[in-house]
Amino acid sequence: AVKTVAFIGLGNMGGPMAGNLVAAGYRVLGYDLFPAALEAGAARGVEAAESGEAAVAQADVVITMLPSGAHLIDAYQGGLLAAARPATLFVDCSTIDVHDARQAAELARAAGHRPVDAPVSGGTVGAEAGTLTFMVGADDAEAADARPLLEIMGKNVVHCGASGAGQAAKVCNNMILGVSMIAVSEAFVLGERLGLTHQALYDVAAHSSGQCWALTTNCPVPGPVPTSPANRDYQPGFMGALMAKDLGLAVEAIATTGTAARMGPLAAEIYRSFADDGGARTDFSGVINTIREASGA
Ligand code: NAD
Repeated sequence: AVKTVAFIGLGNMGGPMAGNLVAAGYRVLGYDLFPAALEAGAARGVEAAESGEAAVAQADVVITMLPSGAHLIDAYQGGLLAAARPATLFVDCSTIDVHDARQAAELARAAGHRPVDAPVSGGTVGAEAGTLTFMVGADDAEAADARPLLEIMGKNVVHCGASGAGQAAKVCNNMILGVSMIAVSEAFVLGERLGLTHQALYDVAAHSSGQCWALTTNCPVPGPVPTSPANRDYQPGFMGALMAKDLGLAVEAIATTGTAARMGPLAAEIYRSFADDGGARTDFSGVINTIREASGA
């Protein structure tokens, strides 16, 4: 049974995820390059290690929650893989390029370890509450071994296929989300210009074929869904910068696979300029305001 977990990357997501493992009775050795993140982890009962290698050397399972694929591969090659005991389970929960995930898995296998990609959705709220969804890419045995830990940090664990399949599911899901939020936002702005109230459009679309999460949970106008970020001045929620990042990964995947997708890349452009023009740290549903402004209202 797993007793000790090394948790590398104790940021906005990793900190609370590691804290939930501590609360479930695991010994968690944490490491982050940023001292304040290590201190915040310590407040959650995560033991601060002196380096990633020091944490990994004592662990049964290594979990990483890092900004990008380049960070992950650098950390793997920079010493994590070499420092671990033979056949350690390496579970990466970061959101990264599918290609990078497959490369990281190959590196882990070549070093004698057992890789799992397990990106999440559910944001910092889900990380705190332990209600994340995990999208798992791994062989059956590795997926089964990772599952008990993932079920502590999340409530929904889907084994999507072999290495990289978790990241593939994540990038496809977020492309649906990004595109559908723009579609809902354009519809509200068009409705405004046609003299339709937000509530009337909502009451129709929420109960007919326009229904989707972007409308009925994260509604981009204030009013119809009182809990949506639009009601609190677009405080996140899910930040514009992260949507721009995730759609950037979708664009990569579309290009490398030769997929004839047009809406995903267009949405990527729209969120990139939204993020660059002040929306980076606000909820991505604030994209409706750029559509309204561009409409001259
Ligand atoms: P974050 O920037 O808050 O945390 C990342 C942490 O990794 C930082 O504290 C950084 O110092 C640390 N780090 C970087 N390189 C390191 C290394 N070599 N060794 C140790 N620590 C290192 O980011 P976050 O919001 O926690 O997101 C982490 C990942 O989760 C990203 O890939 C992101 O796309 C994904 N994600 C985030 C959310 C969200 O809502 N924040 C939701 C789903 C997925």
